[in-house]
Amino acid sequence: MARPARAIIHLDAIQHNYRLAKACAPNSRALAVIKANAYGHGAVRIAQHLAPEADGFAVACIEEALELRAAGIQNRIVLLEGVFTPDELSTVAEQQLTIVVQGEEQLAWLLEARIAQKLEVFLKIDSGMHRLGFAPEQVKQVYQRLRACAHVGDLVCMTHFARADETQLPRTSEQYQIFQRATQGLNASCSLANSPAILAWPAMHHDWVRPGIMLYGASPLDHENAHSLQLQPAMSLESALIAIRSLPAGEPIGYGGRFVTDKPTQVGVVAMGYADGYPRHAVDGTPVAVNGQRTRVIGRVSMDMMMIDVTGLEIKLGDRVELWGKMISANEVAAHSSTIAYTLFTGITRRVPLIYQT
Ligand SMILES: *Cc1c(COP(=O)(O)O)cnc(C)c1O
Repeated sequence: MARPARAIIHLDAIQHNYRLAKACAPNSRALAVIKANAYGHGAVRIAQHLAPEADGFAVACIEEALELRAAGIQNRIVLLEGVFTPDELSTVAEQQLTIVVQGEEQLAWLLEARIAQKLEVFLKIDSGMHRLGFAPEQVKQVYQRLRACAHVGDLVCMTHFARADETQLPRTSEQYQIFQRATQGLNASCSLANSPAILAWPAMHHDWVRPGIMLYGASPLDHENAHSLQLQPAMSLESALIAIRSLPAGEPIGYGGRFVTDKPTQVGVVAMGYADGYPRHAVDGTPVAVNGQRTRVIGRVSMDMMMIDVTGLEIKLGDRVELWGKMISANEVAAHSSTIAYTLFTGITRRVPLIYQT
């Protein structure tokens, strides 16, 4: 027997979600964003599953790209932050990776590199997020310098939205206009849309969309729409009941006695804790499902275990507990833990085996 904590990864759901991104943006190509080990889902397995149909992949750094190449992935791979040191550029060329160029230093490294092959380059433009990218007024000049470089091949102008999840705000349209003005007249394809923009801002899809969180089935939108409602959760974080106890009213549960029973209560102990990546800040009342029945977390989550209220439920020792997945959305758990589904997924630790299902 083994500890029952595990994350089931539904490969068919990821494929469905990739196809949903393509259906939302039917005239665009899509880079499946599988940085950070595919948001905790296992980058190599996800890439292998999507490779036959993916227009490309996007990762954060060359280490992540090389892991994919070593596993036989031949699709286009974009390094979203480009290179961190100039010596990476020879490997970029050998492995035929696509780089982002986001600042003067990276630009100089690229222009001065001795490379025989033509590299595909994404020129990053800061349209208002103020994280990476060239200022709008620099773009035409940077573009011309790249175009004039013998080892620069196709150029894609890209930007990133800071608030595309807030579907009622004008900020995404403002960023879009800044991007449009900066790139006007340039003969380049464009890439703007992350998951929320794919789902909610169709005018901004252009040539290349970049679905990340939506591949994993969590909606990033503040207001769901017809597209986001079709997302399928790709990870079921599961464990099992390892103890059940009956307590009278007035008993404190777990560290710090944060929860005190207000009535006779049956407490289920689940083999899942913050060392597995379940958020320690989950409040009392955070939803959880046991044997297909919704209930709530009670008491502080500890390192290897947590307690749930199983009063009046049909349960027995060993029953399956879903922390998030098909019944309980990661977004719900995130909302009860002052975080977002992105951190829940990427926070799953290596103690939790990933089990792949199609
Ligand atoms: C991570 C990332 C994405 C994907 O964002 P989601 O919100 O997960 O869809 C897209 N573009 C860039 C530049 C990123 O860093």
